[in-house]
Amino acid sequence: MTSTIFTGIAELVTGDALLDGADHSEHLGRLSDAAVVVQNGLIAWVGPASQAPVADQCRDVGGRAVIPGFVDSHSHLVFAGDRSQEFVARMTGARYDGGGIATSVNATRAASDDELRALVARRVAEMRAQGTTTVEIKSGYGLSVHDEARSLRIAAEFSSETTFLGAHVVPLEFADSRSEYVDLITGEMLSACVPHARWIDVFCEPHSSHAFTEDEARVVLSAGRNAGLGLRVHGNQLGHGPGVRLAVELGAASVDHCTFLSAEDVEQLAAASETTVATLLPGVEFSTRSPYPNARRLLDAGVSIALASDCNPGTCYSSSIPFVLALAVREMSLTPAEALLAATYGSAKSLRRNDIGVIRAGNRADLTVLDAPSYLHLFYRAGVPIARALDPVGCHGH
Ligand SMILES: [Zn+2]
Repeated sequence: MTSTIFTGIAELVTGDALLDGADHSEHLGRLSDAAVVVQNGLIAWVGPASQAPVADQCRDVGGRAVIPGFVDSHSHLVFAGDRSQEFVARMTGARYDGGGIATSVNATRAASDDELRALVARRVAEMRAQGTTTVEIKSGYGLSVHDEARSLRIAAEFSSETTFLGAHVVPLEFADSRSEYVDLITGEMLSACVPHARWIDVFCEPHSSHAFTEDEARVVLSAGRNAGLGLRVHGNQLGHGPGVRLAVELGAASVDHCTFLSAEDVEQLAAASETTVATLLPGVEFSTRSPYPNARRLLDAGVSIALASDCNPGTCYSSSIPFVLALAVREMSLTPAEALLAATYGSAKSLRRNDIGVIRAGNRADLTVLDAPSYLHLFYRAGVPIARALDPVGCHGH
């Protein structure tokens, strides 16, 4: 089994609160002039270069910074078609209400398996090229038993973090019979999707007539839980609502968007911080010209937060976590350290994973290298493509 040592790491941000000899200010677990040994896709050793063990081969990263690979815990990569005209309309004043999803549903249903697979492959590669090493992928543009199951089957070829989102919107053919669609989601569609999914999600949003009410969402999530799936919720995106309350009540791993929160919502999230992560998706607010969530208020209250892309054809067709990080610091008053931890440790926590998001011996060797001497350049040099996922020798999978 070949081991590889990465040297020449000017700054290593591990996120490991227990790492000996590291600078633990802002919880970054930072080392300068560091080395990392990788073996069989896992991290074997982390520490100062001067104390590094011998390895079979050496790769010098040339004075760059290395950080944990980004964990993008919320994306909708399985879709066909294009909605750039909607984006342009929004930039000149149109409002988003979830209705355009039908456009993507039609295009996705019309695409072949090979076309969808090629589209997902291209998007996953685009993410890796920007430093993302784990991506959660939702279905939700099929909205039929056949198309939801094949969306998840294709997603599972690229990630173990797959999420059944049959409850994305009520498809047009069920507009006058919503309860029949909820029956379909929780019956035949769920059975067809469970073999390819780890999670179930629901767009719980009373401010959109296309999305699901609190009662409908509870039925969907309960059925998913009974089928063995973990729970995630799209909530509180377009206005105040029941999403956060429901997510906490049901012990969901994540409630995503959290743009409009009451004081009670924040209290509940803080009390549930070990169980339920609030995932913020500021690329959506950027792409819909909407107010950003108040991340400062959440952190100050003790809420666990994550940052993710929500890469999707309607409200944010950006796959870039560095872009999300720049928004979080510039528009949401997070420090660079808080933002970086939210897109690594925090998003890993929202997937209930402790083998990713932190650079520590035993974890997966998911490393991202920056063409810069410090992680601060991710923010300082916004828009410049300095982050990319490292492909360590002997590392398998995505
Ligand atoms: Zn989403």
